[in-house]
Amino acid sequence: MLVYVHPDHRLHDPTEPHRFGGVLLPPAETAARADRILSAIGSLEAVEVRRPPSLDEQDLLLVHQPHYLEFLRDAHARWRAATGAPAEGEAVAYIRPIPGLPGRPPTHVDAQLGIYSNDVDPILEGTWPAALSAAASAVAAAGAVHDGGKAAYAICRPPGHHAAPATFGGYCYLNNTALAAAWLASRGARVAIVDVDTHHGNGTQAVFWDRGDVLTVSIHGDPELHFPFFSGFPEERGAAAGRGANLNLPLPSGSGWPAYRPALEKAVEAVDSFGAEFLVVALGVDTHATDGVLALTDEDYPLLGQTLWTGRPTVIIQEGGYGPGVLEAAVPGVLSAFE
Ligand SMILES: [Zn+2]
Repeated sequence: MLVYVHPDHRLHDPTEPHRFGGVLLPPAETAARADRILSAIGSLEAVEVRRPPSLDEQDLLLVHQPHYLEFLRDAHARWRAATGAPAEGEAVAYIRPIPGLPGRPPTHVDAQLGIYSNDVDPILEGTWPAALSAAASAVAAAGAVHDGGKAAYAICRPPGHHAAPATFGGYCYLNNTALAAAWLASRGARVAIVDVDTHHGNGTQAVFWDRGDVLTVSIHGDPELHFPFFSGFPEERGAAAGRGANLNLPLPSGSGWPAYRPALEKAVEAVDSFGAEFLVVALGVDTHATDGVLALTDEDYPLLGQTLWTGRPTVIIQEGGYGPGVLEAAVPGVLSAFE
């Protein structure tokens, strides 16, 4: 299997602690995650690791708004100029507008951080080139299956499925999964996304909400109780041309394989009825019990991969997965089904 990863992902390696559950914790989405994956998949047969070519930045417009891309590109430099922060400083939103109150579109970078983010993620000096490198891996993997490959895997970090057309959040800045799917759709293909990350793929849903050429399916922990809270419910089915082309399959907290498997089978049935020529898997493995929302175990991941593999060319995009041993067990388990 072709595996794409770009060394520039290291340029985004946050160090400032996050407040979570009332205490300050070290950041979970760090450069070490890609190293952990690379060393774990070394045991698989026929893995060929490649560096993707540079991205054609025009491709980002398939998914994101131009003003958002412009903001992400310059935000850190503008924030340093406005605040005197050091190069290693991490720019984080601390103010958001009052809903419904009239005002002007903000010009100060601190205010724009509150418009363009829906979370507390930082922008670092290297966030833009790192996010570009992850997007390049996603497009390269899409290109590989478009050219006749059976499956290709992109180690994308920062991850992408919580990034919407004009907002970042949930560790995500550019939506790598949406980009792979939109790139294939732009070549005239019918494409389905199955998002198996433990959190609802809200950014991906937003990208394709009113589009009928890309099916989006997400299986995740109940959003009444889990991030991203505001979406991921079954009644969200898409709008306009996309009506019926969005499917959310939330599961109760702590669900293991007996509850997960029927949802996954339902997702695959939806992909089949949609007539998808290509499948894009948003491979979050934070469904593992160690990561605390759902409760899959090491042994379940090869079964998850086997259920997703239906002979359809498949692009696998890395999303979440954090705790000790989670990436190491789950990623090779899923990929083994596509060897
Ligand atoms: Zn997640």
